[in-house]
Order: sequence, then C-alpha cells, then structure tokens
Amino acid sequence: MNPTVKNILQKEYLAKDDLEFLLSSAEADSEALFQHAHEIKIARIGRKVYFRGLIEYSNICSKNCFYCGIRMDNSRYQRYTLTDEEVLEAARYAHDNDFASIVLQSGEQSSKAFTQAIENLLVKIHSETNGKLHITLSLGEQTEDTYKRWYNAGAHRYLLRIEVSNPSLYARIHPDDNRHLHKTRLEGLALLKKTGYQVGTGVMIGLPFQTISDLADDLCFFRDFDIDMVGMGPYIDHTDTPLYAFRDQAPDASKRVELSIKMVAILRIIMPDINIAATTAMQTLDPKGREKAIYAGANVIMPNLTPVKYRDNYLLYENKPNVKDQPDETRKALEKHIRAAGDEIGYGEWGDSRHYKWRNGEISKW
Ligand code: SAH
Ligand code: SF4
Repeated sequence: MNPTVKNILQKEYLAKDDLEFLLSSAEADSEALFQHAHEIKIARIGRKVYFRGLIEYSNICSKNCFYCGIRMDNSRYQRYTLTDEEVLEAARYAHDNDFASIVLQSGEQSSKAFTQAIENLLVKIHSETNGKLHITLSLGEQTEDTYKRWYNAGAHRYLLRIEVSNPSLYARIHPDDNRHLHKTRLEGLALLKKTGYQVGTGVMIGLPFQTISDLADDLCFFRDFDIDMVGMGPYIDHTDTPLYAFRDQAPDASKRVELSIKMVAILRIIMPDINIAATTAMQTLDPKGREKAIYAGANVIMPNLTPVKYRDNYLLYENKPNVKDQPDETRKALEKHIRAAGDEIGYGEWGDSRHYKWRNGEISKW
C-alpha cells in the first residue's frame, strides 16, 4: 500500500522515510499535517506562547561561516558591543513587561575578557531583576570551563545550532579549518547537557545543496540527541557572504518557508514536550511566517530588545524585519500574531521546556 499523510500521522513512531514523505507532501496534505501538529500542541503543552527578549550583545565575531552577514571578514558593518547599562536597560524592559525571560546573543568570542564580561553581566542582570528572569545564552562554541562559569553565574539555557546535521554539508558551508568543525559543535552540545543547561539547537532550512533527506536527518538528530529546545528557520541570502554565489541552488523563498513550517509541525509531532521557536527568519520571508509556525506547533517567540541604533549592524541575513521598531511596537505586533493563531502569551511565566523538566525528574511526562 502506498503511504499517505493520514496513515503516517497515525503511526506511533515516525522513521526517517516517514519524515521524508511528510516533508515532501503536497499542499492539501500539508494542511492535515499542520492541523495534526496544532492539535498535539494544544493537548500536550497548551496554547501559551512564551516571550524571550532578544539582546544582540555584540556583532564582533572570530568566525567566518559562509552564510552569515556578521562573519569576521565582512567589513561592511561597524562592530559594536553593548555597554552593561544598555544590556541592563533591555533586561529591565523584559522584566517590567513580564517577559520573564531573555536571550543574550553575540558573534563568537572566546577571550578571557569576554568570558568575564558575560559572567559579570549575568550576576548584574539577576541582581537588577531580583532573580526573576530566566536567561538563555547564544554565544557560540566555548570551553567546558566557560559553559560552567556562565551556568554558575545564573544562565539557565543555551542555544547552539548545529546548522545542519550532515557533516559533509556542514563542511561545504564553513571554512575548512579547525575553528569551524562540526565535531566541536556536537561536543559543545554534549558539554552543555552535562553542565545542566536546558539545551537548544537548530538548523537552517533551504540551504544550497541541502536535500529532503538532510532535513529528515536533522529531525532525527533532535530526537536522538534528546534536545530540550529548537530554534530553526529558513536560510536567507546575504550579498556579502560566499554562499551568496550559490543562491540559485537553494529553493525559492516560499519553498523555504513552507519547508520550515513543515519542519516545525513534524518536530512538534515527534517531540511534543520540547520548546520550539517561531523564528524571525520565518517572518523575513513571509509576513505571516511566525503566525503559521505558531499554528503548526511553535510555542516561543523572541522579540528584539536590542537598542535600535545597533540593529543595522547585526544583520546575520538581509531584509531582517522590524529593525526600526521600538520594543513596545514589536510587543504589540507579536501579541497580534499570537492571538491571530488562537494562542495566548505566557506573561510572567518562564515557560521552561517541559522536556527538560521531565528529563530532570521534576515532572512526570504528561
Ligand atoms: N555566533 C553564535 C550566535 C549568533 S548566530 C552562533 O553562531 O551560534 C545565530 C544563528 O543565526 C546561527 O546559528 C545561524 O543558524 C543563524 N544564521 C546566520 N546566518 C544566517 C542566514 N544567512 N540565514 C538564516 N540564518 C542565519
Ligand atoms: Fe559568527 Fe555565529 Fe555568524 Fe558564524 S553564525 S559568523 S559564529 S555570528
């Protein structure tokens, strides 16, 4: 019997070929997929979407990933690092507006001074906000000692995307040197788990050379690694990067968004209790991208709290939306998107990954 989306969705366990089939499904069948994921989300984790205020701490980066606008060799941007006071102001905004959670993100830096600066900031943020904010770090690959120091200073979660799970594709989109090793990325994730973080990873979707089989492998990777949180979204071209020359070998924008929403839906089905972000990149390629992702299973959204004057210099990809919007405008627009998807905002709640709490023995599975 030929498989159909309907009978695959009835299976207990989805194997790689099932995932490939779902990723390749036609439009009408995708609707059934999205609805199924939507129902699972409501049944398993409810209809709350949690805000994580995003603070883009610095665009100084020691790496040269072939897809990223703030790669070290791109001289177009003015390099910046926020002052402690600017970070604290954004953290206070998050706290005062009941976001309950922030993400500190940056280009990758590994100097002693950087490690220390982040450690100090973690302590300051907690003392300014009475320990009420949960803090996620997204600061690239670090040593085990650094991960530990930041954890002990009060970071709770860490996001380190594997970008792609296929090592040979990873090698094609990164320079061939020992600063850009897939292996180090995987080791980083294991160290983060060992340290005690809620661990998040993710991939880019619709890259040149990437196949449906690669994307199915990405989903299997999240499941096999037993990840707590995922942030993934479409790959978006940036003129100042080496990968731009291969843009004709990537699917068009609407296909990238469609694949991204499908990835969210399938992931919600195979890992019902993890946190999944509706990423800004989805919104960049489709004005309704984040809304669609929320409907299909995402439960986290990251409003940008970086001071507006720096945002033009933190363009990982081009056409990033809302770079001039003040936090209040962003918050209102996101509230609208979330309500349009029929969900509500988990104001004042940390919205920790249920999967992590279960892994840690804090709650029973359902
Ligand atoms: N330097 C850190 C964090 C900042 S980059 C790190 O690399 O982990 C955060 C994420 O932005 C990356 O993991 C990558 O997945 C995403 N990104 C970079 N360039 C992109 C592009 N052109 N399109 C879509 N996402 C991109
Ligand atoms: Fe630097 Fe991260 Fe961009 Fe790579 S993806 S160049 S590490 S900011």
